[in-house]
Amino acid sequence: MSNNISAYRDIIYSLSKFKSDPIILATRNEGKVRELQQLLAETGFKVISMSSYPNAPDVVEDGRTFEDNAIKKAREVAAAANKIALADDSGLMVDYLDGAPGVHSARFAGPGHDDTANNDKLLRLLNGVPRQKRTARFCCVVAIATPDGKAATTQGTCEGIIIDKPRGENGFGYDPLFLMPEFDKTFAELDSAVKNAISHRGRALQEIKTILTESAKGE
Ligand code: IMP
Repeated sequence: MSNNISAYRDIIYSLSKFKSDPIILATRNEGKVRELQQLLAETGFKVISMSSYPNAPDVVEDGRTFEDNAIKKAREVAAAANKIALADDSGLMVDYLDGAPGVHSARFAGPGHDDTANNDKLLRLLNGVPRQKRTARFCCVVAIATPDGKAATTQGTCEGIIIDKPRGENGFGYDPLFLMPEFDKTFAELDSAVKNAISHRGRALQEIKTILTESAKGE
């Protein structure tokens, strides 16, 4: 067991007791379900979506941090389904805006508004701000919980700059405004396989993958 993984020894032990059960993904986003099923396929755990559990709760994301929300979603779904549950919470943090939109990323422009409205609001708030002050990062916390309430989280971040006009057609959310200087491309201009390998979500999931692989071995 590597040093990094030894910090997760307790949760690996708790998860290993459920290694013959499937893991429930605490999301109703089918795109996320497909991505997670692919990514976790090699761990030895079967991964299924919440659609197999119609009674699983629609968890209210009212936490102050990504971690609060991810743990809350994973714990509530694990308790309702009596299985291990995995949840993520993510968003964009812009330095000039003191970390906003943060946990409010999905609803930045208000309830019922879409990605375009969120992006327009971000551009308005950064109007006239020079490039060196437009630094930002995407953050993701992934939580995994057992039915009896044990939980662990992993995190991933990805650093970039908010440009002043959208670029690219791929992805979703703030992707067209988020430039990765080392590629000179926005997330919306990168191939999805490249984005998934370097993104905040990809990085957080790599560590979860290691935890699950160890758990399936029964350590
Ligand atoms: P959630 O984690 O699915 O709740 O996502 C929260 C919000 O953060 C999304 O609706 C997007 O606005 C934003 N977001 C999170 N990850 C990304 C990403 O990879 N690209 C663009 N926007 C993202």
